[in-house]
Amino acid sequence: MKRDFAALGQQHFDLLVCGGGIYGAWTAYDAALRGLHVALIDQGDWAGATSSASSKLIHGGLRYLENYDFKLVRKSLQERTMLLHAAPHRVWPLRFGIPVYAAHRFNRLQLKLGLTAYDFLSGDTDPAMHHQYHDTDQFTRHFPCITTAKLKGGFSYADAQTDDARLVLELVDGAQQAGACCVNYCQLLSLQDNSPDLHNITVQDRISLATQTIHARQIVFTTGQWLAENEPSREWCQLSKGVHLVMSAVMQDEAMLLTTPSDGRVFFMIPWYGMTLLGTTDTGFDAGTQPMRVESREIDYLLEAANVYLKHNWTRDDVIGSFAGVRVFKRPSGTPSTLSPSALSRDWELRSVSSGVHYAIGGKITSSRQDASHIVDTVCQQLGLSVPCATDGRIFPWAPQDNFATWSMTLSAQAQQSGIDTECTKWLLRRHGTRIPDLLQRVAADASLAQRIVPSLPFIRAELVHCAATEMVVHLDDLLRRRLPLLILAKLSRDQLDQIAVSVAPAAGWDSARQHQEVNRCTALQDRS
Ligand SMILES: Cc1cc2nc3c(=O)[nH]c(=O)nc-3n(C[C@H](O)[C@H](O)[C@H](O)COP(=O)(O)OP(=O)(O)OC[C@H]3O[C@@H](n4cnc5c(N)ncnc54)[C@H](O)[C@@H]3O)c2cc1C
Repeated sequence: MKRDFAALGQQHFDLLVCGGGIYGAWTAYDAALRGLHVALIDQGDWAGATSSASSKLIHGGLRYLENYDFKLVRKSLQERTMLLHAAPHRVWPLRFGIPVYAAHRFNRLQLKLGLTAYDFLSGDTDPAMHHQYHDTDQFTRHFPCITTAKLKGGFSYADAQTDDARLVLELVDGAQQAGACCVNYCQLLSLQDNSPDLHNITVQDRISLATQTIHARQIVFTTGQWLAENEPSREWCQLSKGVHLVMSAVMQDEAMLLTTPSDGRVFFMIPWYGMTLLGTTDTGFDAGTQPMRVESREIDYLLEAANVYLKHNWTRDDVIGSFAGVRVFKRPSGTPSTLSPSALSRDWELRSVSSGVHYAIGGKITSSRQDASHIVDTVCQQLGLSVPCATDGRIFPWAPQDNFATWSMTLSAQAQQSGIDTECTKWLLRRHGTRIPDLLQRVAADASLAQRIVPSLPFIRAELVHCAATEMVVHLDDLLRRRLPLLILAKLSRDQLDQIAVSVAPAAGWDSARQHQEVNRCTALQDRS
């Protein structure tokens, strides 16, 4: 993946996509596959905002059934099924347990009805994806970490999980391979209508601070929470902040859906890269509140909720890390901006204000592909083109074309022969897909690259060099938060950061002054989170 800011000014585009989160990535990829001449920009890193701060679930959203949002649940479950087939390296099944306690918010019958509806709406005929009931013994065998007092048994059901930042990155790479011009650290500053069918857009390179003009016939704003910073889109949305805590492992490969005793909200404990993600909160958020911090009361709220269920209580000292993101909800016209976030629909909407300018509002990672296909349909219609969507069911850019199980077995054997441990191998396949041979070549040239970067996490040193060289890394935190979620899942010392900066400097083209700056930037980010 190559970054080329100058290329943006050298051509006329059919479509400029502003915002490189999941919505921008799918839109650019779909439009480029349909033959449009596309530019995709982001003011920061790919997935630098909410699209790397989600719960990492590809799910229908069991709790939306409570709001009778069957349409959204069905659409999301269909996308889940499609993604499990089209991207088996990127999206993998994850089973969730729901304990049933005496005098709990949901009783056994309510859960049974909800889960039956969920299975039905998914249309998935694979029994492994259907719900099951477990008696108390079976349930506690699956989840030995939970308290058994008043436990009456429990259910399990299937959804799916991903690495959200790498999902976005793979799609940006797909867009670039399909001909799109994709530039991170490029901010849209202003937009002028030159003629009814050509816009002049001023953008700034956030690295050199140079500005230039992009010419595009259509523009889509997939700017997430930044929609609320400008008119007219400010009126169309409401924001809510969601916090996750990173805790040590309490479960192996299964997650739990639980409800908080204080306000009855659903929250999750989710295994991810051998750690546990505990989240999320859902509280009103004001646009422009930067930088976003995780507050002590949000930590306490989540720990208190989790400790109701855990045999061994977590304290603040057990919190390894945290991250926060902002949900955007579409707000029907005329409704107050103070509705409870949990009461607002998670579904998505496209607003077009004048010919050729469109705003994507709200949505979910799970359903973003389908929503992006509607964006591109609208753009094509306005351009007078009739080209069908190209992403539905399409094998992902880094997915093997052959049988996934055979491919996994072959690549796992090769990785292990190269000295990479079993757990790292499992995640390496999920993270890099068909890019693995490049990593194995690096390990063949230098066996020390097969080693873990830190002993507790399944990332190897070859990934640092590979990602720095090939994945449009601009800053060290792009590498250590999104190409690998190392800084999210662990605290690194200054020495560790220095060593990493030195090891990737040749691939990133950094001299010693730049290495120093990058380490300072990461240290400041760590101190803030
Ligand atoms: C706590 C939480 C948990 C969630 N969990 C899930 C989940 O498990 N599953 C699921 O399906 N969904 C989940 N979601 C929802 C999902 O994360 C969001 O719907 C999705 O990430 C939004 O993507 P986006 O592309 O619209 O916005 P973003 O990812 O925020 O991207 C917007 C981008 O626009 C860029 N931008 C803004 N202004 C400019 C400009 N002027 N010039 C250039 N670039 C600009 C920003 O830098 C940013 O990168 C969750 C959300 C939250 C907050």
